[in-house]
Amino acid sequence: MAVLPVVKFPDKILKTKTLEVSKITETERALVRDMIETMYAEKGVGLAANQVGVSRQIFVASPDQARGRELVFFNPKILKKEGVVKEFEGCLSVPEFYEPVRRAKKVWIRAMNLAGKIVEMKGEGLLSRIFQHEIDHLNGILFIDRLGFLKSRSARKKLARK
Ligand code: ZN
Repeated sequence: MAVLPVVKFPDKILKTKTLEVSKITETERALVRDMIETMYAEKGVGLAANQVGVSRQIFVASPDQARGRELVFFNPKILKKEGVVKEFEGCLSVPEFYEPVRRAKKVWIRAMNLAGKIVEMKGEGLLSRIFQHEIDHLNGILFIDRLGFLKSRSARKKLARK
């Protein structure tokens, strides 16, 4: 297992839609183990594969930071959204930058799990936010793209100065 370097904004891989995973092999399982290690090492609650330089539809999540209880999803899709909630959000690829982001309150997703089975899961609270944030990553969207025009522009300026 290894902690992988996290790709930072404005790297192009973060703006690129990731590719579907057709089969889970030892390569994918090893990547997932490294992604989980990296997420904990960076004190994140979620991590998408393109954030560690792999442009595939994979994300891991750990809303309660409980080791051994991580969620792992391949090819996730949002089936349904409900309600609206605006809360502060950050991203390991956009260090030291936090802004309130409007998200759906609840989401239902469908994805393949580590065993290769298609599963559906409902996300509420932090988990709902993680699902939307990570699925955005896999579609090449960052949370700073979800801010209003002026905030998004000032975010880019601020980040460019770093
Ligand atoms: Zn992120």
